Amino acid sequence: MKVQVDDLKGLPHHRLDFVFREELSETQAIKPAVGELSAMWSASGVRVEGQIKTLLKLNCDRCLNPYFQSLSIDIDERFVPNSYLVIPEEGKNEKHDGELLRDDFVEPLPDDGILDITDVVYQAVTLATPTYCSCGDECPGPPERATGGASGGKATAKSGAGGSKTDDRPIDPRWKNLKTLFPNEDSKENS
Ligand SMILES: [Zn+2]
Repeated sequence: MKVQVDDLKGLPHHRLDFVFREELSETQAIKPAVGELSAMWSASGVRVEGQIKTLLKLNCDRCLNPYFQSLSIDIDERFVPNSYLVIPEEGKNEKHDGELLRDDFVEPLPDDGILDITDVVYQAVTLATPTYCSCGDECPGPPERATGGASGGKATAKSGAGGSKTDDRPIDPRWKNLKTLFPNEDSKENS
């Protein structure tokens, strides 16, 4: 979506309220970014503000599982005429009245007089997307390495509940007595 600065000048209060609703490709947003924004023109430039909501699909950096995170961003971006912008020069730190330093939220008005609102929203969503992703307090933590090969034998021996072959614990004394009570039973089975 684009807004012409000249159009704003012709509106009552130099203000345009509009509903923004666009898919943002190349971001992690899986729903369209939607919100009500307004663009206001004044002698010192154009201010775009409002709120944008969307839903991100992220991958947890710990458990690597995908999860969803809703995003609600306050937009407040100013476009000022180039003469208002001061790019700090080396050894010159003084700032004159009415001049603004270039930062993330102040940009020069484009020469063609067309504001790219999509780009404003796109940058806001990109900035608000976390760099470290965590699925939350319920995170199961790093996944166990699925080797499937060498450690397989160990796992089955552990899970074989009835198997006493590998059990090298000393025989319970009471069980010893039972064995001596029925020596014939034991020898029958073995022959
Ligand atoms: Zn997680």
